[in-house]
Amino acid sequence: MGVEDLYGGVEAGGTKFVCMVGGGPSNIVDRLRIETTSPEDTLTRVAQFFEVYVSSRRIRALGIGSFGPIDLEPSSPNYGCITSTPKPGWQNTNITAALQTSLHLDIAVDTDVNAAGLGEAMWGAGRGFDPFLYLTIGTGIGGGFIQNGRPLHGLSHPEMGHIRIPHDRHVDDFPGNCPFHADCFEGLANGPAIERRLGRRPEALSDEDPFWQTEAGYIGAALATYVLILSPARIILGGGIMQRRFMLPVIRRAVLESLNGYVQQAPLLERIEEYIVSPQLGSESGAFGALALARQAAAGSRSH
Ligand code: ZN
Repeated sequence: MGVEDLYGGVEAGGTKFVCMVGGGPSNIVDRLRIETTSPEDTLTRVAQFFEVYVSSRRIRALGIGSFGPIDLEPSSPNYGCITSTPKPGWQNTNITAALQTSLHLDIAVDTDVNAAGLGEAMWGAGRGFDPFLYLTIGTGIGGGFIQNGRPLHGLSHPEMGHIRIPHDRHVDDFPGNCPFHADCFEGLANGPAIERRLGRRPEALSDEDPFWQTEAGYIGAALATYVLILSPARIILGGGIMQRRFMLPVIRRAVLESLNGYVQQAPLLERIEEYIVSPQLGSESGAFGALALARQAAAGSRSH
């Protein structure tokens, strides 16, 4: 048996960066978790972690799954740059160029959710389901649509957290907390929206809190929209809110209610407990997904 190729992966988050060296989830040779501080300090520490593996030629490529929005237009001079983030100090930070300058190797970059989706496609709950949707519901809400083993890109990357969903102000008078749209899906249903609405962090709510029914209704309405537009063969739900295990069956019911029997001849929907599922890579799908991005980058540069 040959030695497996090694890659570098960076999950770049607003609160922490997770760096890994490995071939995949069953072969991680090194990892580092650092708090996100200033771009200079954070990226210096990331580069230092990988330097020894680059100089000894032990890793072939680096993948970055980053919080965003990110400029992913290949012809743009700002390719790989974090653009309009509300994260202080990180606006217009080109993490890709910065790491390329210090490490000199092939780097692939995508959004954190696209990377997580790719990780699930390669090693997790997405295997055998193409296309599928990976959605994270936590501090932010975002989705990656994986088709033919690759995340969907077009105009830019999808921004699935910012769609409009029905908002009945008689049931929920919270105006929403998205700085761009107020009561878009993310503005109604992310973790900070729950905290601002109820004065308590989502972790402090009991499983019996009636708000969870409202929350499941928002998620169900959004998922029904994705089902109608994208027709995914599976939906994988990750993120902090989905740590509440009781939410998954409530959300499945809400999706069926929202579709109201319209999508027919879809055997996948009849087994909804296999259609809407949890990630298999748990909270590490983002970092593993960054390794998956690096593998694709290395495979791409070989074939050119
Ligand atoms: Zn929004």
